[in-house]
Amino acid sequence: MNWIHLDLKGMMPGVEAMLRWIDWLAAAGFDGVVMEYEDRLPWRVLPGLYREALTPEEWQRVWARARERGMQIAPLMQTQGHLEWVLMHDEYAHLREDGHWNEICPSRPEAQNLLRAWLDEVLARHPDGRYIHLGGDETWHLGTCPDCRRRAEASPHGRMGILLEHVGGLCRYVTSRGRLPMIWADMFWRTNTWSAEALPPETILIDWQYGSGGNWPSLAALQRLEHPVWGASAIRSGFDAKYALAPLGMRVDNILAWERLRRAGSVEHLLHTFWARTNSLTPNYGPWEGWLPGFLAAADAAAWERHPLKPLCDEVDEAMTAPEWTDLDPLIGRLESFTHDDSLVRDCVAWWVLSLQQRQAVHHAVEVALRNPAYEAVAPYRGIDPDALAARRKTASQYRGQAEAWRQSALAWLKAHGYSDVPEYLASKMAGIERCLAMTPGV
Ligand SMILES: [Zn+2]
Repeated sequence: MNWIHLDLKGMMPGVEAMLRWIDWLAAAGFDGVVMEYEDRLPWRVLPGLYREALTPEEWQRVWARARERGMQIAPLMQTQGHLEWVLMHDEYAHLREDGHWNEICPSRPEAQNLLRAWLDEVLARHPDGRYIHLGGDETWHLGTCPDCRRRAEASPHGRMGILLEHVGGLCRYVTSRGRLPMIWADMFWRTNTWSAEALPPETILIDWQYGSGGNWPSLAALQRLEHPVWGASAIRSGFDAKYALAPLGMRVDNILAWERLRRAGSVEHLLHTFWARTNSLTPNYGPWEGWLPGFLAAADAAAWERHPLKPLCDEVDEAMTAPEWTDLDPLIGRLESFTHDDSLVRDCVAWWVLSLQQRQAVHHAVEVALRNPAYEAVAPYRGIDPDALAARRKTASQYRGQAEAWRQSALAWLKAHGYSDVPEYLASKMAGIERCLAMTPGV
């Protein structure tokens, strides 16, 4: 099995672009997609939380297209951690684990009732899939409320006993309905707990490791638990939120490390994750196209090595980490003249161009904010040359014009692809630039 995970809490392409992605993923040979919906479906059990990107009818088209192309869909519902998007709302505040927004308290009967009703709805909306992903990652506050703390103290597995019992109950519910549950496995190594008897034996443990090493001790330790274990890479995960693109080479290295483990027979099935935010309430990682190298490497590692994007990808990575005075225009010019038969490849390069321009705008803004005060500070001691001041003001004004031009270009590009959440995304990329450029020199 070679699966993709699509996190939908960030920007979502419009329906036509989404159908193109489904076609592309199926043609690339992926067997299935884990869809991390969060509030992108109008859940009947969570009324009022729907953040529409696709309409329910458009979702039906996406699911039908995946079926036609022979790709399974596995819905992901978080069952303990990463429920910020629910628990941030006052009407669910009483379900928070010790007041924390990210985590639901499994000791509350209302929480159990809500999760079971939601799971029923997930199963009903996906009547024909084999797998249900129940999340289970990053439960930082496991066992902290008084009720959970008492239970953790009484459990032979401590805090982890709470998660195993809670998620185990929901996994059994999934198996009783004839489906196979998947869960993230990071809490096993975070708590150094290597017991999974509370989980039904069919439960798939997903060992996500996003580094480039490949010598992850968690893999063998989880495999000793006698559950099916899948490996998980990250095509996209956390990166510096002030930029529009992350370093891509390290993501590809991570994917290739997992691919080597598969070829060596150390793991059979892989899930390549594609994250959209660090959590529901942090800056969104932006449109999908720029991360195409990771999708290509996950689909076929050998083909990626020969792909015409590969040398450009290396150059873009270098440019995104070069010193701030590096002139990126020559590379931008070459990217603008690049062409390819696949429109997704062309879109990837187009996003790289926009990302390099945005990087230049960030550095110009930082220059205004940090360098100009150094000149101004000299004024009381030595005076300030009015010509020099005028020149610096003029430069700042040019930078403002360039930043605004970037905003307009990015807006047009994102709209053309039907992306959701465009105003939020552009605000998060522009806010720092605007604040820096507002520090007009000499004022
Ligand atoms: Zn609790």
